[in-house]
Amino acid sequence: MSEWRGGVLPDPVPVYPTWPGASAPLRCPAGHRLAIGGTATPRCQPYHRDVVLCLACHRLGRRRAAFALWDISRPRIEPADWRPGRAGLQLVLTPPARAQNPGRITLWLHDHAVGDIDMVLCGTCRVGVIEHVRVDYHRRRLGYGRLLVAAAQYRGRGYAWSTTSIERDNHQLASFWAAAGTADLQRGRPTYCRHTTPRNGHEADPRSLAQLLRVWNSTT
Ligand SMILES: [Zn+2]
Ligand SMILES: [Zn+2]
Repeated sequence: MSEWRGGVLPDPVPVYPTWPGASAPLRCPAGHRLAIGGTATPRCQPYHRDVVLCLACHRLGRRRAAFALWDISRPRIEPADWRPGRAGLQLVLTPPARAQNPGRITLWLHDHAVGDIDMVLCGTCRVGVIEHVRVDYHRRRLGYGRLLVAAAQYRGRGYAWSTTSIERDNHQLASFWAAAGTADLQRGRPTYCRHTTPRNGHEADPRSLAQLLRVWNSTT
């Protein structure tokens, strides 16, 4: 192998989150400087998207020579009963029906939900709690979970973020949380506000729900 002459990319291709204003990566995941080693932007058919191919990795015959930069800032906003069909890889956000319920971001690969994240948000108190992250067993180690966490935290930028408890003896989970999320994410110690506390038995204040839905539905 030398230069990229087209053809089918090895599947699966790992994904990395990006957002408007984020700087483009200078290196590939293996550490090659892309400006020196060179890149190509072949089409990744399963994702329905152009991806970045590190030509240094490609020349070395690395299986993971390509990676996809995925914009997490604008997930599709859809109701829970929506199904995507054969639309490639997509982030789809389902806002909650009630303020203290979690909303969900689902990563669809065509008509299969390959991963999802549940979290509660409060725009009044500026807190977010990640309650659950799931990635299909056969689609792990591709950055899908990190992408979902990044997409969740992007819904509440500048918020105080935490996660529900993490089993200490689950090494796979511990290493996931060592890689995923921002540095200030409080891992394993959830901090709910009074609007989002589970099982408090009260309906949310309608104004806080309206604000919450604005936060959920924000596309900026
Ligand atoms: Zn490389
Ligand atoms: Zn609150």
